[in-house]
Amino acid sequence: MDKVILRPRREESILRFHPWVFSGAIARIVGTPAEGDLVAVYSSDDRYLATGHYQIGSIAVRILSFDEDPLAPDFWEKMVRRAFQVRVACGLHGSETTNCYRLVHGEGDGLPGLIIDYYDGVCVLQAHSVGMFKAKGAICEALQAVYGDSLRAVYDKSSGTAPFKAGLDLVDGYLYRAPGFTADEQVVLENGNRFCVNWNEGQKTGFFLDQRENRAHVGRLAKGRTVLNLFCYTGGFSIYALQAGAVHVDSVDSSRKAMDMVDRNVALNGFTPDRHTSYCADAIEFLRDVPEGKYDLMIVDPPAFAKHRGALKNALRAYQRLNAAAISKVAPGGFVFTFSCSQVVDKEAFALAVFSAAAQCGRSVRILDRLNQPADHAVNIYHPEGEYLKGLLLYVE
Ligand code: SAH
Repeated sequence: MDKVILRPRREESILRFHPWVFSGAIARIVGTPAEGDLVAVYSSDDRYLATGHYQIGSIAVRILSFDEDPLAPDFWEKMVRRAFQVRVACGLHGSETTNCYRLVHGEGDGLPGLIIDYYDGVCVLQAHSVGMFKAKGAICEALQAVYGDSLRAVYDKSSGTAPFKAGLDLVDGYLYRAPGFTADEQVVLENGNRFCVNWNEGQKTGFFLDQRENRAHVGRLAKGRTVLNLFCYTGGFSIYALQAGAVHVDSVDSSRKAMDMVDRNVALNGFTPDRHTSYCADAIEFLRDVPEGKYDLMIVDPPAFAKHRGALKNALRAYQRLNAAAISKVAPGGFVFTFSCSQVVDKEAFALAVFSAAAQCGRSVRILDRLNQPADHAVNIYHPEGEYLKGLLLYVE
């Protein structure tokens, strides 16, 4: 195995189990590792530190093991099983009302660069590194070992996430399909609500599993309310609100495909169109035309406005503008569930943007709750960067 040797004193973060080696920390490389190869990381005084996937870019190594032993043959199965056991322990696997969850959340599950979402027997995998992309065959075998006969399919959806490199066959497709399983979508249950998930045509792995708990929270407050779900994707929050007894729900997303799926999901759960209206529109323009006081519960869950640090300032301004528009329009006594999934926007910065929005509107606003990502999107305590979803529940008078 090729060796990556660090500069003096640059081993400290690895001794604290941080799973990344930045290129600036490297003194020299012994050998000529290809992207995605396993490399062993050593301190400047030649102490073994860790083993990980080599990557060209600012994150040069993503650590898979801090162990003396090089990766054992059963490594993938062991890691997938550990992740699975956490989902069992949290009551996500084996639940009668929920049969979809995130099985592997990258660094949070000790597998940097790998996402696997589980949809009732179908695992959808996204590799964010060349190393994980190259390991997908072994990962698929590990999934077969862990789930056994209940595994219906393993779908690789890395074309949009793996760094593009010549020679990588970045075509999405099935790594495994049980005999007779031919569909690209299926209906899953989330807290008893039914959702059709299409991993082939949908965004990300097909569904935003990270909002499960926050959707349930909306459900607890939606009874008797008139709801606006902005950036609704396939209508997750809308279905919970309808289930909870909302008077009417309007759902807005700019994606036609997403809105078609909202309509299917509304019907799938037995709701009639008189309680729900779909709008394929730009959410910000839609909000501009909303009459003041029409809605007394709003959900604002935009895509990440900042994908990197350089975009932070503009993103914060965009969050402020969007939230000011929502806060100014919501009825007195209304709730606003507002979110940011930009990793580079931390909790404090987001709260400050929402604070500025409230101040701009001059309304009385209380924070009733701080919202997070759920247990299956766990954060490795040594890798706080894994925390990305944050939200506030506002009460506006
Ligand atoms: N709340 C959703 C997830 C939202 S993801 C859920 O619970 O599943 C963000 C969504 O915003 C995507 O569906 C994307 O299509 C949509 N989107 C992006 N830009 C938009 C815009 N300007 N107006 C409306 N929708 C937009």
